[in-house]
Amino acid sequence: MVTSLNQAVGVQGSSMNTDNIGCPLCQNGESGHYHKDRQRDYRQCVTCQLVFVTAQYQLSEADEKAVYDDHQNSPIDMGYRQFLARLADPLIERLPAQSQGLDFGCGPGPTLSVMMEEAGHRVALFDLYYANKPEVLERQYDFITATEVIEHLASPGVELARLWSLLKPKGYLGIMTKQVKDKEAFANWHYKSDATHISFFSRETFDYLGVLWGSAPLFIGADVIIFQK
Ligand SMILES: [Zn+2]
Repeated sequence: MVTSLNQAVGVQGSSMNTDNIGCPLCQNGESGHYHKDRQRDYRQCVTCQLVFVTAQYQLSEADEKAVYDDHQNSPIDMGYRQFLARLADPLIERLPAQSQGLDFGCGPGPTLSVMMEEAGHRVALFDLYYANKPEVLERQYDFITATEVIEHLASPGVELARLWSLLKPKGYLGIMTKQVKDKEAFANWHYKSDATHISFFSRETFDYLGVLWGSAPLFIGADVIIFQK
């Protein structure tokens, strides 16, 4: 069955064997087999092109946190700062002075927030494991950052809709994640070998979100995406 939304956006599902495993981003897409490796099966949504693994391949919260505990980043790590500057710099260029932001998924060693504060902005932190303060998700912000976060989301549709709702008009959503190119590149992609990576976005997926939100994504380099509300 092809859903009416698929038809509306002109997606052809016929070249792919699809079934009704729902997409965790757009919910109403059918998905088809995309890739299989020794660890997992990967599916791709015919509507938003998200590549994802089903729940059976998702780690428990305890196992997931154990992996994150192993990745200790910190603001004194210059290499990590340089990595984050790929998002921080273009965001700082665009923000009015003294903007209020949220670093969503800040991890155990918040660093981007330190860099944004050094540039004169204020930043609230949220992280499911390291800064679980639901009250910060009850106000609106001039900017929200999510660096190396959305590839970990089991329900990216719900989480991204929430982040978008937390932005003030004209606010910026800055995302950093590696992007799917094609099946051939995916087969040898180190990014998919991390068991905590379960949602893989591509340019087409961000374009889908852009249509949904009425805001064309700005792609900066290979892994930075900025939306303005
Ligand atoms: Zn989808």
